Amino acid sequence: MKIILWAAAAIGLVLPAASTAQPNSQRVVWNRPFAPFRVIGNVYYVGTRGLSAFLITGRAGHVLIDGGLPESAPLIAANIEKLGFRLKDVRYLLINHAHYDHSGGLAELKRRTGATLLASAGDRADLESGKVAGRPEIDEAPPVKVDKVIVDGEVLRLGTTVLTAHLTPGHTRGCTSWSTRTAGKTVLFACSLTVAGQNLVDDPTYPDAARDFRATLASLAKMKADVFLNFHPEFFHMEEKRAKQAPGKPNPFVDPAELARIVAQSKRAFDEELADQRKLH
Ligand code: ZN
Repeated sequence: MKIILWAAAAIGLVLPAASTAQPNSQRVVWNRPFAPFRVIGNVYYVGTRGLSAFLITGRAGHVLIDGGLPESAPLIAANIEKLGFRLKDVRYLLINHAHYDHSGGLAELKRRTGATLLASAGDRADLESGKVAGRPEIDEAPPVKVDKVIVDGEVLRLGTTVLTAHLTPGHTRGCTSWSTRTAGKTVLFACSLTVAGQNLVDDPTYPDAARDFRATLASLAKMKADVFLNFHPEFFHMEEKRAKQAPGKPNPFVDPAELARIVAQSKRAFDEELADQRKLH
């Protein structure tokens, strides 16, 4: 099941390019609405059914990670308001990586919130052009200005909220994971770890892709997280866990072994993909 879903997520990135910006069936499936909810502590799920977005809340203001597709922005905004939070209190926008299914809604959400967009140097140009350099098959996203470039280990503080950036390149050159502590737990918002059509062997635009993937998987293998979150919700079984959340019961999103399992799966998938690509070269 997991492998099928991972493959589906990968296929979503290699569907025919939408120079026409016509919604395709994958986009429609990704953009189905989902009722927002508290994951743990001050971390809320405000994404669609098929694409995650997370709101980290605090008295000094909120942080929103990811914007989904361009057509997800109104759903994410409505989800934030449904939880009783104000869009104007969102101070920072973060992004896991510059592909249209995560960055597409950022421009609209930036307009609606007035928030400051932080991103890594590796993803900045693609966010600002709305195109993925060297990969014309990937749908375009509305261009969005990056207000500040963040580096590995950078700490974002907003009141009592503390978020740490972990540069985890491979899926894109600037793929960025974030972590925070809440309710006594470490929460990891992990960037995509799938190859998803990335050329690993001799990509002139991203020659270090394979080396980056390996380094990212090695660094994540050393990390500890009590709660593993990702921006394709099937990767962390969002719906199944959400259905199990109940007062007085252990929080199903807390699973300290999940990060290691995901890293091991991703490593196997990466090694297979690299071997396949080498055969073709
Ligand atoms: Zn992607």
